[in-house]
Amino acid sequence: MQKIKIALITGSTSGIGKAIALKMAQLGHRVIINGFGDQKEIDALVVELTSISKQQAHYFATDMSKPQEIEKLFETVNRDIGPVDILVNNAGIQYVAPIEEFPTDKWDAIIAINLSSVFHTIKAVISPMKKSGWGRIINIASAHSLVASPYKSAYVAAKHGVAGITKTVALEVATNGITVNAISPGYVLTPLVAKQIPDTAKARGITQEEVKRDVLLAAQPTKEFVESEDVAEAVAYMCSDAAKGITGTNLSIDGGWTAK
Ligand code: NAD
Repeated sequence: MQKIKIALITGSTSGIGKAIALKMAQLGHRVIINGFGDQKEIDALVVELTSISKQQAHYFATDMSKPQEIEKLFETVNRDIGPVDILVNNAGIQYVAPIEEFPTDKWDAIIAINLSSVFHTIKAVISPMKKSGWGRIINIASAHSLVASPYKSAYVAAKHGVAGITKTVALEVATNGITVNAISPGYVLTPLVAKQIPDTAKARGITQEEVKRDVLLAAQPTKEFVESEDVAEAVAYMCSDAAKGITGTNLSIDGGWTAK
């Protein structure tokens, strides 16, 4: 892969998406980030990405739960930056509650952000990718695209859906130079997860190390968190020419979770 590519990563102001954006910049690509957060931090990230890749990075505050906003995003990107070569669907949220108490608005939000946005973004990039004869679509799913945990009905349903659309679109565009894959991490110590550790330790009267090992990593045989940067390396590999024959897969990076 020689040419500078345009890489759009949804939900990339934090955690896994941010690590992927930084990796794409290291590869010299023109990076488009998205998500919410502190505007000063986001501006600083755009400057950092631009300085790493030597290509102007961009930020769009598009709400991935809103199809019309997604449509507008791609209109703007196509007009002002160029067609997206690498699409990483990473934006995601979580909510945990028993099914009979699961708030309908939380179900709707999780399905919209974690699953339907994947449909809308893929729909928007496929024609330009077909035209250029090259494209990489990588959907950040989860171990929960393969197995379930109680109280996560919406998240598990959405992530199983992401695995399904990945396989379907991979088949549809297999002869167009476009690959479509999913990556399914186990527990990753993103700021979101890290924040829960002190409170859980206090609530359960155990140490923070015990929270990590016995609560968060109970399902993960390695007893180690997956690193955001390792997920980003897998994305980079899937973007490489060496991975041109890899399509329709769902790569687990879960410390053995789904081997059980
Ligand atoms: P995070 O909360 O650190 O980052 C989520 C990103 O999505 C942020 O940039 C946030 O602003 C953005 N976002 C949230 N709602 C959005 C919306 N409506 N529109 C646009 N952007 C929105 O989370 P993370 O842990 O880095 O998770 C990233 C992805 O990885 C998610 O899809 C998540 O399901 C998946 N994942 C995470 C883990 C984990 O343990 N952290 C494990 C498996 C899969």
